[in-house]
Amino acid sequence: MARLGRVGFLTLAVVFHLIYAYSIFDIYFVSPIVSGMKSFRVEREPDAAAPAKRLVLFVADGLRADKAFQALPDPDDTTGEDTEPIYLAPYIRSRVLSHGTFGISHTRVPTESRPGHVALIAGLYEDVSAVTTGWKLNPVNFDSVFNRSRHTWSWGSPDILLMFQEGAVPGRVDADTYGEEAEDFSSDATLLDTWVFDKVKELFTSAKTDPELNAKLREDKLVFFLHLLGLDTTGHGFRPYSKEYLRNIKLVDKGVQEITQLVEEFYGDDETAFVFTADHGMSDWGSHGDGHPDNTRTPLVVWGSGVSGPRYTQEGTLTGHEDGVSSDWGFDNIQRNDVAQADVAALMAYLVGLDFPTNSVGELPLEFLDASPKDKALAALANTQTVLEMYRVKEEQKKAALLRYKPFAPLADHGQTSVDEHLQEIKAKIADGLYDESIEMSSALLATALEGLRYLQTYDWLFLRTIVTLGYLGWIAYALTTVIDLHVLHGTADSNRTVFSTSFFSSILVALFSVFFFQRSSGRYYFYGFFPVFFWEEVFVRRKALLAGREILMSHVHSASGYVAFGFQSLIFVGVLEALVQSYFHREIFTVCFILGASWPLFYGVGFVKKHALLSLSWAVGCLLMSGFTLLPANKVEDIGMITWSGLLMFFTGLLYLLFEDYVLGQKSSTQSSFAISSRGSRTIMGAQLGMVLLALIVTRSSATSIQAKQGLPFGNQVVGWFVLVASLLLPFLYRLYSNSHYLHRLMVLFLTFSPTFIILTISYEGLFYFVFCMTLATWVRLEHAIYVYTAATRNGSAPSKKPGTEATAVVEGQAYRYRTLGVSDARVALFFFFLLQSAFFSTGNIASVSSFSLESVCRLIPIFSPFSQGALLILKLLIPFAIISANLGILNRRLEVAPSALFMVVMSISDIMTLNFFYMVRDEGSWLDIGTTISHFCIASFLCTFVAGLEFLSEVMIGGVDFGPRATAFGAAVVEAVNGSAETDTSEKPGETDSRTT
Ligand SMILES: [Zn+2]
Repeated sequence: MARLGRVGFLTLAVVFHLIYAYSIFDIYFVSPIVSGMKSFRVEREPDAAAPAKRLVLFVADGLRADKAFQALPDPDDTTGEDTEPIYLAPYIRSRVLSHGTFGISHTRVPTESRPGHVALIAGLYEDVSAVTTGWKLNPVNFDSVFNRSRHTWSWGSPDILLMFQEGAVPGRVDADTYGEEAEDFSSDATLLDTWVFDKVKELFTSAKTDPELNAKLREDKLVFFLHLLGLDTTGHGFRPYSKEYLRNIKLVDKGVQEITQLVEEFYGDDETAFVFTADHGMSDWGSHGDGHPDNTRTPLVVWGSGVSGPRYTQEGTLTGHEDGVSSDWGFDNIQRNDVAQADVAALMAYLVGLDFPTNSVGELPLEFLDASPKDKALAALANTQTVLEMYRVKEEQKKAALLRYKPFAPLADHGQTSVDEHLQEIKAKIADGLYDESIEMSSALLATALEGLRYLQTYDWLFLRTIVTLGYLGWIAYALTTVIDLHVLHGTADSNRTVFSTSFFSSILVALFSVFFFQRSSGRYYFYGFFPVFFWEEVFVRRKALLAGREILMSHVHSASGYVAFGFQSLIFVGVLEALVQSYFHREIFTVCFILGASWPLFYGVGFVKKHALLSLSWAVGCLLMSGFTLLPANKVEDIGMITWSGLLMFFTGLLYLLFEDYVLGQKSSTQSSFAISSRGSRTIMGAQLGMVLLALIVTRSSATSIQAKQGLPFGNQVVGWFVLVASLLLPFLYRLYSNSHYLHRLMVLFLTFSPTFIILTISYEGLFYFVFCMTLATWVRLEHAIYVYTAATRNGSAPSKKPGTEATAVVEGQAYRYRTLGVSDARVALFFFFLLQSAFFSTGNIASVSSFSLESVCRLIPIFSPFSQGALLILKLLIPFAIISANLGILNRRLEVAPSALFMVVMSISDIMTLNFFYMVRDEGSWLDIGTTISHFCIASFLCTFVAGLEFLSEVMIGGVDFGPRATAFGAAVVEAVNGSAETDTSEKPGETDSRTT
């Protein structure tokens, strides 16, 4: 393949990273649902009836367990006095106290409505892969209790009901949904619940005059499902402590009572079982989704036919209340039986005598059953058989799809699956009347079967992970080769592709593709397989360039000790990258790194520090200040004092610069005509920018005070806030009229451009961070430059006019290369940039603080809740430091005389060392927060490379037109010339001349 230019390289980087980022979904988040299983039910005597003829399922959407049972202030109390707390759900309480069995149903993450209902009704935990298809769709049909019933009537939200209707045998599930009318309920969500109760009453009323319906209702194996969405809506709107939420609980309780009595009256046979539960809970701030206990604990109360009555606790035995969660529910003397959410599906299927849903992984909670030991043993067996059957089918599918399959050891014997033997053993125990033992064995076998399912689910991981790993490593090698080729050898190295190498790599590709083809893998797999082969082939054929590059880069290393030092440096390099990986979990790592980094100038000897005393000092101060931010809490509390201080700092920095501009930009401006003299016009604009900073500070103080006093945001403040935001971002365009192309001037302009925006969007210490960060970056750019000049001078003896190793050539395999050293030290510059880039994000927060974003700051601009525009503002605030740092690297890139984008390309190649780390850290189990965090870590690291590419273009915009003196003309092909010219100018610069502004 022809040599890729800069744009080609960037495009390849973007395409590769986008495709590979998707790989985690093909590896970790694959749907566990299979079909083709036989179903099982409890094998009763031929004439024995099921425990219940019908079942009523109430799901109070978003009802968390403690709110259902605690004594709470009466929301309807109008006296205004502090009255005794009351129980809001007296009827459901009475079922717990004297009629049925209760417990907490522990839901899994994500605690959302769809997965919650799927667990309750189908008995399966929907996989995270549903993330990629959206919760509302029903991508795969799975079996459910409804599908197993003779007929199911359901009422409620279309989001929930329709997926069970579509997944079932046609005509089996009736779904009565409110659809569009729901819009009218926005004022009072309890109407969603009353609508459902009314519809149920209508059904039974019409049965009195409709003989056909009446006969249908009197059959067995029926299910009635009442989906009560009201609590979810009031919870989101008013939070679970609100009167609205509590009042809704009362309403639901009353409805449950009415429906129970209605059904019992209608049938008059005491053959109905009732289940009351919730799909998920609700956090204190009115949200759900993650694994917080408030979200995962839901109430479960079961009563009626076939259900055991309350069991009273006895001294010295386990009561189920040990965790203390239910201590204030007034149920201390009643046994609490917790279940996992999917167990409810098994329980419902058992009660109405249905086959267990074939995808169900729940374990039947025997404590809830009013049944003989033998019935319980048979039920446990059928339950286990269902899960084993799923394992069997899945294993067969896997076997058929793979070239070679290794069975799951605990369920295999001599390489054969030995499920039947286990089952025979359990059946024998039941025949011998050893029911307790058989129940224990069933339970253990079920656990093993679940492990087996997990084994099959993760079977392909090794193969796929290996390919993806080779892909990322290939990218790193390829990118480094390209960098060396373009920026060390200046594209003079030839690629040598032989017949042998070509056929070798193509046969690997063909072999991989045929495996994918045989296993009927998705089209994406071909890309996953293609990239590693492509990258490594490219690296292989350009190995000559790599060798030459090594020769050149290592030219200063001659002795053994030199190699040791070089190895040590490489170790530190990788160490810093690994530290960065860990910093995603522990922000404090930045603190340590900054403290260590403060002494960095010392590495260049005391002579250097003496020569650049002020610069080294301000670097150390900057680092130490930066080290403080990652110790501050990520979740900030509004602090007006802090906002004021940081605003004033920004203002006075700008003011000082304005007053001493000529001095700061160097006395050269008076003697050297090459530097544009700052004009009156540009000073006026900067004055205006300073005015904006002050105005932003005043309006932010006023807005924050007003909001804190709960007086809302005055309209005037909002207008002024927006004006400042927009105007401050537009002002710099006026500089085009009065150009001042000194790079420090440009940095100052950028600093002042974003200052007002940052002040307005600041909650607490971020403003200080912005100030310190900008100053540290400017110091960094100057320090890197000073080091560059200093080391070049020392290497070439005392003659500063000699450029750093410019004329050096290397001869490899008879070919001579001329180069400008993109040296090993440039890799360090890239690493520093990479480190500072991430500190820009982690200094003021972490991943979690972004997802749980606090709206205080954006409320000063958008007081009403509007997720999209508020989110956009928060992202703007996050991106500002990145814009600043990209401008700095762009300037540094030029000042170090490196070809355009060379430093950015080095960063792009090393960033994937982090991506690989996060790739192996992705979790597909655990709380939704854990899973989500690992996915976002991986995606952030993966897109960081692309992001850096974007930053490069941004930096070009921001530093366009900056004059770097005469050497700037020497770019392009004649980099060598540029280096020549620079050494003279640079060494004439007085050390620390402009550091006044950083202190
Ligand atoms: Zn819900």
